[in-house]
Amino acid sequence: MLLRGLFRRCAWCGGRGAFFTGWTSKQSTCRTCGLNWRRGDVGYELGAAATAAIISVGPLVLLLGAVLAVTWPDVHVVPMLIVLGVGAVVMPILLYPSSYTTWQAVDILLRPPEPDDFESVGEASASNAS
Ligand SMILES: [Zn+2]
Repeated sequence: MLLRGLFRRCAWCGGRGAFFTGWTSKQSTCRTCGLNWRRGDVGYELGAAATAAIISVGPLVLLLGAVLAVTWPDVHVVPMLIVLGVGAVVMPILLYPSSYTTWQAVDILLRPPEPDDFESVGEASASNAS
């Protein structure tokens, strides 16, 4: 499920694109299985934001550690800060959808979906069209 989420798929069914109609625009249900995006919880976006921070900043911290380990003691600070600064801006944009679907995978692992959490795919299309 985590791998499905990392690749921007529905963590439950593996449906491609899952909840996303654009890079940042979401619909309320999965287009393939009808799983509701929100399942009666509060603060869901906070978990997605935390996931975004982890998967965006985590690789940058690892890169920083690797660069320091390889170039120590002659660290070229300015080029390193430029690369890491650009990464700090670009990574969250690139990983925005994956942060949501990865968090959904964690949420599903902690709280498996109940039958009430699904909307039939036909209903989902109709309600999302309005
Ligand atoms: Zn799905």
